[in-house]
Amino acid sequence: MYDVRSSKAEEFINHEEIMESLKWAHQNKSNYELINSIIDKARNYKGVSHREAALLLECDIEELNEKMYELAREIKQKLYGSRIVMFAPLYLSNYCVNGCVYCPYHYQNKNIRRKKLTQEEIRKEVIALQDIGHKRLALEAGEDPVNNPIEYILESIDTIYSIKHKNGVIRRVNVNIAATTVDDYRKLKEAGIGTYILFQETYHKANYEKLHPKGPKHNYAWHTEAMDRAMEGGIDDVGLGVLFGLNMYRYDFVGLLMHAEHLEAAWGVGPHTISVPRIRPADDIDPSTFTNAISDEIFEKIVAVLRIAVPYTGMIVSTRESKKTRERVLELGVSQLSGGSKTSVGGYAEPEAEEDNSAQFDIEDTRPLDQVVNWLLELGYIPSFCTACYREGRTGDRFMSLVKSGQIANCCQPNALLTLKEYLEDYAAPDTRELGEKLIQAELERIPHEKVRKLTREYLQKESRGERDFRF
Ligand code: SF4
Ligand code: SF4
Repeated sequence: MYDVRSSKAEEFINHEEIMESLKWAHQNKSNYELINSIIDKARNYKGVSHREAALLLECDIEELNEKMYELAREIKQKLYGSRIVMFAPLYLSNYCVNGCVYCPYHYQNKNIRRKKLTQEEIRKEVIALQDIGHKRLALEAGEDPVNNPIEYILESIDTIYSIKHKNGVIRRVNVNIAATTVDDYRKLKEAGIGTYILFQETYHKANYEKLHPKGPKHNYAWHTEAMDRAMEGGIDDVGLGVLFGLNMYRYDFVGLLMHAEHLEAAWGVGPHTISVPRIRPADDIDPSTFTNAISDEIFEKIVAVLRIAVPYTGMIVSTRESKKTRERVLELGVSQLSGGSKTSVGGYAEPEAEEDNSAQFDIEDTRPLDQVVNWLLELGYIPSFCTACYREGRTGDRFMSLVKSGQIANCCQPNALLTLKEYLEDYAAPDTRELGEKLIQAELERIPHEKVRKLTREYLQKESRGERDFRF
């Protein structure tokens, strides 16, 4: 039976409830009044339920779809302004004991080169990442208790935080590793991680088991209940995601929102972020074999409806997507982007030789970070390297209450400008710098609080003189 507060995966992600929601959405997809009333209700930025979101996604009335896109843009602008938070993935190891059929790291793939970075190699990678301007990383590693035990992950996090090279520093390490125990989550929390990210891949249990035929990940309940264990271990910022293209997208979309509702009901805090990856080609993987692959149009609608359904949850798009698609979804709701990414184990310090292929997926947007920053500036966005909340202890419900009261605007906007300024001073090409300086001057005026605006101006001047790391 469906129970949003239950600790059991099959009760909080309840198959019957998803099927009922999809049936109801299908029956009402042309119900103008009902859909219109949901859109109007969502104008208070309090989100909508998984059923209502399912209906918005299914809606086939052009006029109302347009209205939805408008609302998504409005919410994005109102809550996130023009700020886009930047990050890069760092793959530590591609050893993996799981058999995920859509991932080239599955244990049976003999073509791929297996690699695990030593602490010295991590040092080199991190310096290379700092040297292009990154301040926020997402650590990635396959599941392998022998090659990638939790001690290795913890040691790597310590190494990353300890490296100070020129003005470079990694200020926030988010972690994307396999589902683990409450004890391990506690250790990750103590190591000072930002968000714990774990993609569900698909919420459909039977398909999940087929897609994960071997290894610990085969256990649906263990995987689906991981965020509850993370919360129990004290990690209050968690990131959800499904791999669109593995299953019926509508099913996974509803499951994703039910998961968000469960975290809110059981732990008082919804997901910090939602990622929306789509399946990509990779060694041994051909996306066309996944018959549920979704079109750009549907992908955009998913992003827009998510923005309406969970307005306060950050949304992440990686370099899996093309420049064109990224541009479109930025407008509709995405608030975080990776840039200049490598999806191989290593590869930042020295490009990986072709025959060494260790990548998890092919990158669509291959531009270096400075080109991505330049492009965002041209589009009028503020690339932000901000990590302030985590460093100020604003996580979990403390973070959410600040966000919901709107007070976060007095932090995000100045912090975005201050970290962009650091980037411009230390790493940007001359034309990026010129564009960025102009944008900072214009965007300064948008800081709502006068005192904060004045202080930001002072901090910016200090940054011009070489001082660093100011934040609100
Ligand atoms: Fe391993 Fe993760 Fe790839 Fe599955 S998706 S094979 S768990 S690295
Ligand atoms: Fe994110 Fe907090 Fe920085 Fe805003 S102030 S961009 S919410 S870390």
